[in-house]
Formats: sequence, C-alpha cells, structure tokens
Amino acid sequence: MARVSTKTVDVVLVGGGIMSATLSALIKDLEPTWSVALLESQGEVATESSNAWNNAGTGHAALCELNYMPEGQDGSLNADKAIGINEQYTLSRQWWAHQVKAGKLKNPKTFINTIPHLTFVEGEANVDYLRRRYEILKNEPLFADMEYSEDPDQIAGWAPLLIDRRDKSQKIAATRSISGTDVNFGEITRQLVDNLAAEGGEVFLNSRVKKVKRTTDGNWELTVADASGAKKTTLRAKFVFVGAGGGALALLQSAGIPEISGFGGFPISGKFLRCTNPEVIKQHRAKVYGKAKVGAPPMSVPHLDTRIIDGKESLLFGPYAGFSPNFLKNGSYLDLFKSIRAHNLGPMLKVGLTQWSLEKYLLGELLASRQKQIETLRDYFPAADADDWEMITAGQRVQVMKKDPNKGGILQFGTEIVSSQDGTIAGLLGASPGASTAVHAMLDVLKRCFPNEFNGKWQSAIQKQASVYGANINSSAEKTEAVLAETAAVLGLER
Ligand SMILES: Cc1cc2nc3c(=O)[nH]c(=O)nc-3n(C[C@H](O)[C@H](O)[C@H](O)COP(=O)(O)OP(=O)(O)OC[C@H]3O[C@@H](n4cnc5c(N)ncnc54)[C@H](O)[C@@H]3O)c2cc1C
Repeated sequence: MARVSTKTVDVVLVGGGIMSATLSALIKDLEPTWSVALLESQGEVATESSNAWNNAGTGHAALCELNYMPEGQDGSLNADKAIGINEQYTLSRQWWAHQVKAGKLKNPKTFINTIPHLTFVEGEANVDYLRRRYEILKNEPLFADMEYSEDPDQIAGWAPLLIDRRDKSQKIAATRSISGTDVNFGEITRQLVDNLAAEGGEVFLNSRVKKVKRTTDGNWELTVADASGAKKTTLRAKFVFVGAGGGALALLQSAGIPEISGFGGFPISGKFLRCTNPEVIKQHRAKVYGKAKVGAPPMSVPHLDTRIIDGKESLLFGPYAGFSPNFLKNGSYLDLFKSIRAHNLGPMLKVGLTQWSLEKYLLGELLASRQKQIETLRDYFPAADADDWEMITAGQRVQVMKKDPNKGGILQFGTEIVSSQDGTIAGLLGASPGASTAVHAMLDVLKRCFPNEFNGKWQSAIQKQASVYGANINSSAEKTEAVLAETAAVLGLER
C-alpha cells in the first residue's frame, strides 16, 4: 500500500464508496487548502454497495417506488415523503450537473441515463390505490410528467413485456414518468475519487482501518492495516468521516462515542435475476416497480429494470433476499456476532422478537425454489423463459436497529447519520434511499459537524452548487422547471 503519512491531516474519509467520494468533492470545493485522505480497504474504490452490479441503479425520486407514499390505515394518502425524496434526488442531479460544468465529472452518459420509471399493479384494490396516488402526485411540480393508464394496449406501448401473454381478465394499471433515470453510482465514485487525487488529496488503497481512537489533543488516530492485514500503521486526523458502508458500525463502535450506543445492524443480501437473452433485453426500456407483498420490507419491492452499465443495456429482476452474517460482501462471517455489545443487545433482541413479518419474509426468500423465483418474475413478465435468466448476488444492506424509548428497539430501513457531539467524527449507517440522496446526506454531515462554516463562509459556495438544498423547490413550479431543465441539458437527459 502507498505509505499512510504520519502527519495529522484535516480530514480522513474511511471507505471509497459514493458517500466518501461525494464528501471529498464537497470539502475540496469549500476548503481547497484542507488536507484530505481517503482510506479504502480494497484494491480499488466502489467495490461494495456503490458498485453498479451491487445495487439497482435507480435514481430514487419516488416516481415509481410506492413505499415512499404508502396508504394509511384509514386509506389516506400523503405525498410529503415522496416529495421529500424527489427533492433530495433533484439536489443530487443539480450537484452532479455542477460537477460536470466544473469539469470534475466527465461524460454524463457514463453515469446517468434517462430510463422511464413505471409503477405496475394488478388487482382492484391496488389499481384503486395507484389511481388515487396519481391524482395527488400529478398536481405536484416534481411529478408533473406522470401519466396513468388502465389500458393494456397503452401499457404495452410503455413496456411490452408486462403485457405479453398476460391473462386478459386481470385488472391492471400503470403510471409512467418519462424523466426517470438509471445511475451508475460506482462510476460517479471513481471519477470523484480520481478528482480528489488530482486536487492533492491522498488516496490509500488496500488500507483497512482497524480502529479509531481519540487522542489526548482531541484529534483521532486511525490504525490502518495493509491488504495482508499484517503491516499496521497509523494516521491522525482532525475530522473523520466513516463512509465504510457495512463496516461503519464497527468503526464507530471502536471510536467509543456515546452517540453510537444502542445501535446494531442486521444484514440482508440482495440478489437479482439477470437476463442473458439479448432479444428480450432489447424489448424492455424502463424501470418497472411493483407493490411489495403484505408484510414484506420496503427494500423487497419487486422491479423489472433496464440498467445501463459501461454503455451496455441489461435487464434485471429482483431483488430476492439472502442472508449472510457478513456486513460487507468482502466482509467476515463474524461481522454480525462481533457487532453485539451490552448496549445494543436489548434493542437487537427486541427487534428479533417483534419483526415477525420480516422474519417470515426472509425465511420465505431463503427457502424459495428456483421455480418459485421464476413465478415471481412472471408476475411482471408472464412470458419469461426460465432459461433466459441467471441469479447474481448484489450488495449487502445492513439495516439499522436502534434503541427506542417506547418500544425498546426498532428496525429502520432508512439511513442514519451518527456524529459525535463535538462534530469531529461522523458516519453513515443504513442503506435506503441510499446513493441517490448522497449529496443531501453529505451536506447534512457538514451542517452538523461544521455549523459555523456551514452557516457562514460556506453559504455562497453551497448556494452556487446546491441551491436546491433545503429550498423546498416543489412549492414553486417555476423553480422546479428551471432546475429540471438546466440539469437535463447539462447531463444530457430527456424530458
Ligand atoms: C441490493 C441493493 C440495491 C440498491 N439499490 C439502490 C438503488 O437502486 N438506488 C440507490 O440510490 N441506492 C441503492 N442501494 C443503496 C446504495 O447502494 C448504498 O446506499 C450506497 O452505495 C452506500 O454507499 P457508501 O459509500 O455508504 O458505502 P459502500 O459503497 O458500501 O462503500 C463503503 C466502502 O468502504 C470500504 N470499507 C469498509 N470497511 C472499511 C474499513 N474498515 N477500512 C477501509 N475501508 C473500508 C468498502 O470496501 C467500500 O468500498 C442499493 C443497495 C443494495 C445493497
């Protein structure tokens, strides 16, 4: 490994995924003179969740994902969460466009492409829900291009595989947003990390952070091992961001900050069926999301997805869930066991004893035969030929479990920023909506850890590259139109 320096750097970023890469670019823009080092355990960046083959590449904007606008127990619908997610994704688009204009991200086609986002449902109750959801969202500026149809011919025009050989007696409906996107988060990560190195940041590969410890002068000391795990060295930093994905919990625990007390993690592996028949791949150009089965967790929502990776279109269906106790694909089978502490045992047990629907779902997934998996695919693509599909393993998601004053312990499916009270260390736990909202999450880290700079001298720079941050743009049709039009032009997206 390149030798880790012995001096104290201003900022250390642990992990080379989309989160650290985004934070590195933000910091280098705001404080070009700060020394920044990034430490990645693998021989290259973006090998875990941010890698294109390890996630679904959906630019999550709540255009097609029903879990961002669930039906209340009384049948009511509220668009707030869907609008919030879309605003966060619009911020990412705006920031990526800024990076393209600044020459820091190159050739947008390599990392973002227009792929229509569809929602497809079957059955009277689901059709009624989708229609009501559409009636609300079509009036919101960020969702203005959404179309709705119950006509099989029109839906076949949008996505023929959904209708081919479908039982004509089925009641179906779909919405379509033609401005949806497919994103290669791994490519964004690689370009931003290359840029960090070009701007004088230090990038250390094959450098696994083993421990993070506070020093007597209030800084942090990181113990770093090389690829063999044997040769150890140390690095000191004034500010540490733990962007280690599934490895973040262990490192925040080692830092001993009280804020990590009560947090645990539960790993769920994602798997996808990948189509191997070019003739079939050609017939579908959309991301089609359905409705999760009753009791199934939000990340299990089935989707039939066009992906664009390295300029080539592919077709995936999933996710199916698997279980492995490691917190990273390149992790250890002991990860789950080693994460247990006296302070998180209670919340973890409580979650284990109350999350029956998740456990039932997981067990069902683990026991599902290949035949059963193909049947699920045929709910979306009735004419699917089993021989055209192979199973691939995607990334590990570590769901957050945490203490709850009322329930003892809760499981949550979103992301959570954990930071020390003095703002010298922060990390990100959890997986969803994930990479799509990286810019929002990393601005939140900066706001929390550097409040004086954030609200003072950084204001104008942040405004220039991320005016959407906290601006509630959906409340203005003009502002929404201006941002969407500008980002589409810079990123080469269709509208
Ligand atoms: C199956 C699946 C589907 C998904 N689909 C989507 C989607 O469609 N859209 C979306 O927006 N998001 C999606 N996500 C979520 C998204 O992929 C993640 O939220 C995001 O990639 C996390 O980025 P990260 O930088 O935090 O972590 P990662 O990309 O996992 O990066 C962490 C890095 O830290 C390194 N590391 C770990 N431990 C150490 C250590 N001790 N020392 C040094 N380095 C270390 C790892 O090697 C890795 O490179 C999906 C995730 C999964 C698993």
